[in-house]
Amino acid sequence: MTQTQLRQNVSLRPYNTFGMEAKASYLLEITDEEVLHTLCSSPLLQQQRRLILGSGSNLLFTRDYEGLVLLNCLKGIEILEEDDNQVMVRAASGEVWDDLVRYAVDHGWHGAENLSLIPGTVGAAAVQNIGAYGAEAASLIQEVQGISLQDGREKIFSNRQCLFGYRDSIFKSFDPGTFFITSVTFRFTKAGSPNLTYPALAEELQKEHHPSPAMVRETVIRIRGSKLPDPTETGNAGSFFKNPVLTEEELETIRKKYPDIPFHKTEAGYFKIPAAWLIEQCGWKGVREGHCGTWPRQPLVIVNYGNATGREIDTFAERIAASVRKKFGMELEREVLTI
Ligand SMILES: Cc1cc2nc3c(=O)[nH]c(=O)nc-3n(C[C@H](O)[C@H](O)[C@H](O)COP(=O)(O)OP(=O)(O)OC[C@H]3O[C@@H](n4cnc5c(N)ncnc54)[C@H](O)[C@@H]3O)c2cc1C
Repeated sequence: MTQTQLRQNVSLRPYNTFGMEAKASYLLEITDEEVLHTLCSSPLLQQQRRLILGSGSNLLFTRDYEGLVLLNCLKGIEILEEDDNQVMVRAASGEVWDDLVRYAVDHGWHGAENLSLIPGTVGAAAVQNIGAYGAEAASLIQEVQGISLQDGREKIFSNRQCLFGYRDSIFKSFDPGTFFITSVTFRFTKAGSPNLTYPALAEELQKEHHPSPAMVRETVIRIRGSKLPDPTETGNAGSFFKNPVLTEEELETIRKKYPDIPFHKTEAGYFKIPAAWLIEQCGWKGVREGHCGTWPRQPLVIVNYGNATGREIDTFAERIAASVRKKFGMELEREVLTI
């Protein structure tokens, strides 16, 4: 590996959407898979604690990172197979997720349009099983390819082996920094019905007879723009917490006390409660304290209004979770990884 690829004492501020200042002892740009193999045979680098970093849009740095940050710069999109009905596309894990969505939509392919404008990389989309507007990456992913950084072995996970769940996958259960996803294979369809299960999207597109993927994408981008802060202007990492998932029994218990509590049934038969509603009921919507706050139009998003430190955001988030715990007896699990 070259000197330019491995840097020491590097500021991570440009590499996380919260805009947090933190230093990495080492940072290595992964520009091709060979670098990963070299890494496996480097005793110095093998000793380091490792963090695989995409666009840093799902992370909160609360301190310096003493170890090696592997910055994913793997690029490339290729069509593997195509027939009249479907197309299989392999994308390198460092591709920007929304570039892949645009690529699919520009070709008129169906499947990814509801997931437009989600920040981050293709690799992290598989780790997190990103989702929005009634769709999830898991429904498109055929295979995930990667390299074990412990022994350099290449591994392929089929969709089933990925054990996808709500913002979850098998990759989250691995020790951090041990498995580097190098590419992901997706299946898009050439004909299909738009997914308008999300009420706000259905409402916006109700006058259209059969909206194309491009129309859905445009609408999703418009709705997202009106609700969510742009991380290039206001530091944030999207939804800070996951929506709590309850059993029917738990839901009935809570509804006795809070009959207005909103919920929706998941395919697996559980009940999802919007964390944004819980947070708002605890009086946190649009609250701003110093440089920390909740976004006025979406209280689930915690923002850095300027120079908040990672620890301040961490404490602010903990106070929100504590209020929800106290009022509703529910635990808010973080969607954002705190480091
Ligand atoms: C404004 C905004 C809106 C958002 N909206 C949504 C939304 O609608 N839906 C949604 O699901 N998410 C949303 N997010 C969260 C975020 O976009 C996703 O979680 C995204 O997948 C993170 O990608 P990333 O490349 O930035 O990952 P990072 O933050 O860099 O990393 C996230 C995790 O994945 C691991 N990882 C990253 N790349 C690899 C790899 N190649 N191999 C192995 N592990 C890897 C990292 O180690 C880390 O644990 C939003 C974020 C923002 C800032």
